[in-house]
Amino acid sequence: MKTNFNLFMPTRIIFGPGKLKELSTTPYLPGKKALVVISAGKSMKKNGYLDRVVGYLKQNGVESVMFDKILPNPIVDHVMEGAKVARENMCDFVVGLGGGSSIDSSKSIAVMAANPGHYWDYIHGGSGKGRPVPNQPLPVVAITTTAGTGTEADPWTVITKSDTKEKIGFGYDGTFPVLSIVDPELMLSVPPEFTAYQGMDAFFHAVEGYLATVNQPSSDAFALMAVELIARYLPVAVKDGNNLEARTAVAWANTAAGMVESLSSCLSHHSLEHAASAFHPELPHGAGLTALSVSYFSFMAEKCPERFPALAKVMGEDVDKLPTKLEKAMGFITALKKLIKAVGLQELHLSRFGVRKNESPALAKNAMETMGGLFQVDPYKLSFDEVVSIYERCF
Ligand SMILES: [Zn+2]
Repeated sequence: MKTNFNLFMPTRIIFGPGKLKELSTTPYLPGKKALVVISAGKSMKKNGYLDRVVGYLKQNGVESVMFDKILPNPIVDHVMEGAKVARENMCDFVVGLGGGSSIDSSKSIAVMAANPGHYWDYIHGGSGKGRPVPNQPLPVVAITTTAGTGTEADPWTVITKSDTKEKIGFGYDGTFPVLSIVDPELMLSVPPEFTAYQGMDAFFHAVEGYLATVNQPSSDAFALMAVELIARYLPVAVKDGNNLEARTAVAWANTAAGMVESLSSCLSHHSLEHAASAFHPELPHGAGLTALSVSYFSFMAEKCPERFPALAKVMGEDVDKLPTKLEKAMGFITALKKLIKAVGLQELHLSRFGVRKNESPALAKNAMETMGGLFQVDPYKLSFDEVVSIYERCF
């Protein structure tokens, strides 16, 4: 166990079935006029979530302005546009309502509503200028309706610059939400396929945070708990979306995995996925991660087996009886394949989303250039050729 670490987790989290209504009474709202950021899709309106949020805010003395253009892979143009709407309406905080794309966008909009220039001026990696953010962003309130990105419990936001095919994560102490509401009842309407994609994304946040060189005791505890809960309850939530016990367990696992992202880090597995979905925006993040995972983690388990057996164990594999360190580590790959099958994603291949094997060198270059930071915390330093071979083994 590490005995030197830095623990910072500043988000207040209100968790539990039915908790959305606390928005009407909570004393922790950070302002009086909210920009409510939602996706361009219909689900927030159709399910009544938008009306409920606007109504509860009103009961709590807060006016709302809506921004409803966010795409599944959110783009920088909408960040700039949303920030302009926030400034013009003198909003003093931003509410992200929906899945990861809406909440991530709300963080980026909060940065640009309070700062000059272009969003890419502040991005580290790729063609970003990496400048420090001069002014404190507007405060963000996150209300998550999916159990996937963990963005309600971390500072990260992932935005795509379409013209240069760059999908880059950004975040710092100023982009943690000040308040997050996680109400598993809002997740009952997520269809099975997306429940599986999002749950697998949360699973990999926990797994990667456990394996990253910057792990710490608190991230280890949250990570192992999240991995155990997802292995047990995600297959249930996929099969029976109305099972509130399973939805609640997966929702908590996702939020815990978000804290893992805050306290530790994702690995280059995420860089590889971001490159694939920057080239093919129709590829859902969780689908891309799942399709890359067996190849990626088999490679990592061979190179640095040390931390894999603990993950295999909490997923129910009896690895103690296995003779070698490598076999114990590969017990995680066995468990991973079982989980992928149990959530119905065993036939998922990158080629289904238009990714081609001969793109592998270009994807590897993009992953290492735009999201190079995550390679620094991998337990094994990957070479360019090794990244290409990880991609190629997915076909
Ligand atoms: Zn992710």
